[in-house]
Amino acid sequence: MNSILKSISSGKEYPLNEVRFTSDNGELLDVVHDFDALKKGRNISREYFSTQRTQLNGQPSGGVWHFKDLVLPDIPEQDVISKQEGNTRLYRSKKISSFLGLSKEKFFLKHEGENPTGSFKDRGMTAAITQAKALGQKAVTCASTGNTSASLAAYASEAEMTGLVLIPKGNVAVGKISQALAYGTKTLVVNGDFDDCMRLIREAQEKLSAYPLNSINPFRLEGQKTIIWEILLQLNWQIPDWIVFPGGNLGNTSAFGKALHEAKELGWIDKMPRFAVIQAEGASPFYKAFKNNFAQLTPEKADTIATAIKIGDPVNYTKAVRALKWTNGIVESVTDEEILEAKAVVDAAGIGAEPASCATVAGIKKLMERGEIKSSESVVGILTGNILKDPQVIVDYHFNRKTVHANPPHDVEPNLESLKKYL
Ligand SMILES: *Cc1c(COP(=O)(O)O)cnc(C)c1O
Repeated sequence: MNSILKSISSGKEYPLNEVRFTSDNGELLDVVHDFDALKKGRNISREYFSTQRTQLNGQPSGGVWHFKDLVLPDIPEQDVISKQEGNTRLYRSKKISSFLGLSKEKFFLKHEGENPTGSFKDRGMTAAITQAKALGQKAVTCASTGNTSASLAAYASEAEMTGLVLIPKGNVAVGKISQALAYGTKTLVVNGDFDDCMRLIREAQEKLSAYPLNSINPFRLEGQKTIIWEILLQLNWQIPDWIVFPGGNLGNTSAFGKALHEAKELGWIDKMPRFAVIQAEGASPFYKAFKNNFAQLTPEKADTIATAIKIGDPVNYTKAVRALKWTNGIVESVTDEEILEAKAVVDAAGIGAEPASCATVAGIKKLMERGEIKSSESVVGILTGNILKDPQVIVDYHFNRKTVHANPPHDVEPNLESLKKYL
């Protein structure tokens, strides 16, 4: 075996084929790969990943499985459950960069909404469900603000496993719940919030042997690491000054930190970009902990229009703190109003993303105004989910708002005269 599970705090190790999500003391676990052992049988050089077009079962391996030897090296290729996730585009946009005051040449948006079910969750899901199947698990579960359940539903169907998703009542965007239902997974609407759902999932794992695919599952984060590696490939190894993304349960924060830490260990990079994690003001326990020098995390009741990051008690907190230390990172919070304004700009640029994703752009704007990010610096922002995930927010905004970005439809009579004035 080339990998083990290891507590991030005590260092206690467990075999990879043990079904566990925390150490005996409840600490989070990393999947740790033995690079020296891997180097003996395989090519894991930067050169290799930069130049080879890898395949998985005769098809292009996509962004995640391009890095298979550093994600799940010991799983046989034919056992991987994949929909060619990853290989998402890195956009440049004149409209968005000028809204932010950044140079168009140095500002990029990585669109993870271009994954098979419309969010980055697919990158984690392909890895974690592959591991679940390899462990002989029959049922997979998650608590979800929406996108994890959409993704789990699609992958459980593909893997022919029983899927069970728990979503908080009244808090899931219509595009996401539609997917969970349509892909045929059992969907339970819990009379509680996301954090209640998460607690239930952890109990169900212990008492009902249902295998969780939330980001507490360290294999999820192995898949999500590849977002960062793919960005580095796309930028031809020019390390950006900043990588900016939203934080909810802090799975991405943790996974991205690990990706860069490993890239450094492997000798792929010699300096670190800085992270800026953006939270919604009404769901900002990580921001508050950051302001407090990470003295402690105080769970809170979350409230924001950006339902994907409406999380008050992030499970990956300790890993996320570690990631910020590795990257000299910062945390910012933005209001729902700022998120909606940024979203209107991202959408009108013809790119589009769901509200939580646009916290990224709202956060960059705020950090620029504060002088934290300088206009001369290079910035990669991550858009985490597809524009069609939350159509209700869009319709409400454009029908009802009186802002400069609002673009309401107009009622007209069926004649050319009435079209003329709009041209
Ligand atoms: C899950 C999700 C997030 C939050 O990511 P974490 O890894 O939990 O911090 C942000 N945006 C979208 C669209 C998501 O689906």
